Amino acid sequence: MNEFTAYFIMGVVGAFGVYWCIKFRFVLPLEARTRDLSRSFERFTAFSREALGHSYIPDSVEHYGDITNHYLIKLHKLFPESSMLVFESSEGRWRLIDYLKNFETEPKLMTAYKWGVFDKAAGDSEIVRLENISGGSDAGAAELFRIFDIKAALLCPFMYSGAQAARILLFGGARRDFFDQAEPYLHFIVSQLNAVYKISEKVFASKKDNAQLKSELDAVVRELNMTGSRLIQRAKERKALYEVVTLGAGDEKDVKTGCAAIMNVVARMMDADVVACLLFDEAKNELVVNPGSYGISDDERMLYSLGVSNTASSSVRTFLGRKPFISADAQNDPEVITHYAKLWNVRSLMIVPIALHSRVIGVLRVGSRNKGIFTQDQLEFLSVIADELAILIEMVTLYENLSKTATELAQLNKLKDEFLSTVSHELKTPLTTIKGFVSVILSGEVGPLNEQQLNFLGVVDQSVNRLTHLISNLLDLSRLNSKVEMEFSVVNVKELIKNSVSTMLLKAKEKNIALTSVADKSLPPVHADTRWIIQVLDNLVINAIKYSGPGAKVHVSGHNKGEVVVICVEDNGPGIPLEEQALIFDKFYRCKASASQVPGTGLGLAISKSVVEKHGGKIWLESKPGAGSKFCFALPVDKERGEGRG
Ligand code: ADP
Repeated sequence: MNEFTAYFIMGVVGAFGVYWCIKFRFVLPLEARTRDLSRSFERFTAFSREALGHSYIPDSVEHYGDITNHYLIKLHKLFPESSMLVFESSEGRWRLIDYLKNFETEPKLMTAYKWGVFDKAAGDSEIVRLENISGGSDAGAAELFRIFDIKAALLCPFMYSGAQAARILLFGGARRDFFDQAEPYLHFIVSQLNAVYKISEKVFASKKDNAQLKSELDAVVRELNMTGSRLIQRAKERKALYEVVTLGAGDEKDVKTGCAAIMNVVARMMDADVVACLLFDEAKNELVVNPGSYGISDDERMLYSLGVSNTASSSVRTFLGRKPFISADAQNDPEVITHYAKLWNVRSLMIVPIALHSRVIGVLRVGSRNKGIFTQDQLEFLSVIADELAILIEMVTLYENLSKTATELAQLNKLKDEFLSTVSHELKTPLTTIKGFVSVILSGEVGPLNEQQLNFLGVVDQSVNRLTHLISNLLDLSRLNSKVEMEFSVVNVKELIKNSVSTMLLKAKEKNIALTSVADKSLPPVHADTRWIIQVLDNLVINAIKYSGPGAKVHVSGHNKGEVVVICVEDNGPGIPLEEQALIFDKFYRCKASASQVPGTGLGLAISKSVVEKHGGKIWLESKPGAGSKFCFALPVDKERGEGRG
């Protein structure tokens, strides 16, 4: 082997040695590191891809916590020897809200810590490395790190609101050699959580606003619903009350019908099954169910009467104490005689007094088969109804009493008329006989009479005349009362006045009274019963002559007033006092001043009024006491022949 070959072999061996030396010393470790780096890069990429895939915008802080948990669980799988604790800032302290660490038995932990390092870290936006940590002066934190066996930690603040982090992730362990590997993951997680929170914060805020708005809206809707139901309730009450008041003011003629109508309204309004009105019967000293109750037949009604000494009864107590009563379940209420509640078959019960001013006249009971359906509002409303009911009962009772009295009076009046008519007829015949014989004796046909006899018989004759006049008036009244038919014909008023005046002229002359008359030129005829109308006019003229002193003036006049003809008799006699003017047309009324001076019956004007009214006319008086009287009456014009007749 030559020298060259030897050098060559040495050179090759040397190069081979250098190659393997370089390979073992540099290339292989570099390759191993590159492989490691590539594997950890792949792991990181897989982690971040998976994490990003799981990212979403949470709609609540709880969901945000779910995302955090998901990341941490994944991270804990990669670094199982680590401890991960999540703290949340709360009222100046840090509350431990979650942790990831495998314990054999779960430790007992404090919930909140006060550790200055956390406060400082929360103000930074960077991950803070802590080595050889002990918890410092905070004994709680020291205990926590001991339990978790944490010697070193990475503090990762996140969930920033402004410059301050609300939460801190403490990534810790007994060693710190895996921190380098963990740090990129933590950076990624923290930045991811911060980004998600930044967006979510707005969502939370708008969600909070929405929730508040919704709750406010709900409150408004609830209030509206309540107001609506209250308004409907009030409207129902008003309608019911209106119906009750209308019924009360209506023409119900007996308590039963009136009560029945009101009981129906109450039953409808209150959804009740039984509505009854118990009225106090003074004779029996009992509360008796009034006819017209709702939900109780007339046969059943007879079973319910309560002695007012029975104070175990809620109705009696309400009646005596005037205090409304309500029960949600009368069949199991110690305040109620349950046996009665069962008899009435009611559960819910309301009782209110029916009172007229200070007098309680009964109670109003309302019952339902269902439990607890009546309210205090309904009880108050029932009291209002009871007040209306009281008025109705009072009115109907008064009406019933009045009707009874009126019927009795009508019967008495009829009896009186019959009696007067009979007596008058019976008196008339003997009076006519007396009058006849007195006239014959006075005429001297049966022999001469001395002066005294003449005087006495004169008095008898006048008395007979008065009696005859009275009887004839009574008979007239009786006839008018028994609805005598008028015999209407066409009457010429001018003629009527003329005849009456000429008949009375002699009487007037005897008293030195000037009797005059006048009539409108165009005076239409009236539709009248001549006999009765003559009697009216004669009576007015006689009165004017009778009650005026000698030398007075009496004037009769007839006036055309279009639809009616008015006939007046005016005198300048004593007149009629104001307070007596309203009574002057009453039967048997005579003015105080003239009653003892001038003979009369007090029936003439009553007869005149009745006659004029039967003609569809009117009679009235105008009088100034001391200056005279003016009696007028109006009669309807005879329409068929009235036009243009004078
Ligand atoms: P009588 O004349 O029979 O008493 P009337 O019914 O005709 O009954 O009259 C009732 C009363 O009215 C009379 O009693 C008298 O007091 C009063 N009266 C009637 N007409 C006049 C009159 N023209 N002037 C004053 N008083 C009169």
